Amino acid sequence: MAFEGLTGRLQNVFSKLRGKGKVSEDDVNEAMREVRLALLEADVNFKVVKDFVSKVKEKSVGKEVMDSFTPGMVIIDIVNKELTDLMGGSQAKLAKSNKPPTVIMMVGLQGAGKTTTSGKLAKLLQKGNSRPLLVAADIYRPAAIKQLQVLGEQIKAPVFSLGDQTSPVEIAKQAVQHAKDNSLDYVIIDTAGRLHIDEELMEELKQIHSSVNPDEVLLVVDAMTGQDAVNVADSFNKQLELTGVVLTKLDGDSRGGAALSVKAVTGCPIKFAALGEKIDALEPFHPERMASRILG
Ligand code: GDP
Repeated sequence: MAFEGLTGRLQNVFSKLRGKGKVSEDDVNEAMREVRLALLEADVNFKVVKDFVSKVKEKSVGKEVMDSFTPGMVIIDIVNKELTDLMGGSQAKLAKSNKPPTVIMMVGLQGAGKTTTSGKLAKLLQKGNSRPLLVAADIYRPAAIKQLQVLGEQIKAPVFSLGDQTSPVEIAKQAVQHAKDNSLDYVIIDTAGRLHIDEELMEELKQIHSSVNPDEVLLVVDAMTGQDAVNVADSFNKQLELTGVVLTKLDGDSRGGAALSVKAVTGCPIKFAALGEKIDALEPFHPERMASRILG
């Protein structure tokens, strides 16, 4: 499971603090040194770690904390609150257009889990009694269209495809019209990915963006890739103005770096977390729950 290493290390630091009736400034400094190392080892962005530790330290060394009955517990609460804030504070909800359909563009590098996540998101929306349309706009990866069709069949959601000979921009435009004509309330566009960010990919995404004017541009990133995921998010965000990030493969042994750095580095909230290959393994991302989970 993700964050195991980080959770173990933080628990060590906190059990030492918790055991103390009185906490000195030296104790706090020592604890923060260990927190800093634990976060760096979890592949959290260097600057994010620095800011985080200095905030926690500043709040922890005050007289109020030191003189409280359980200073160790108060400091753990401070860490919990700051971790929550680091991941966006409160849940960032999916946009809903007041003029349906709500258009969601799924973007990301190949293999990040874009197609799978599109299917999962459709399923999640169906559970909320919405009617999503899946759109096969990845015409370059031969299996992508079929993969989306299989997912659509599995969850009984319509899949819009014009094969692999029509341009993705045209596919996206016609799909939105199709959704309007059929009173479908969400359009989820599965766009193409590449192994690396390249100009051609960005150009195509920008064209789709300007032709359908999406309500959401969700970047799907693989949490297992740690800081690379954050760098990918940063690059996409500079070119496309993302509205949110989906972190996939959190069921793996990702160390936590991406989850803890993405919001602080890009300003983009994490909206969903994917925790497995199954169709219902997608959940809205709750920063406070994730912080509690990390703290164990
Ligand atoms: P795309 O190229 O971005 O469309 O990626 P795919 O949707 O085809 O996913 C690539 C691989 O990652 C597939 O084998 C998926 O089953 C797998 N995958 C996607 N999301 C998750 C996840 O949350 N956890 C795990 N373990 N595997 C995932």
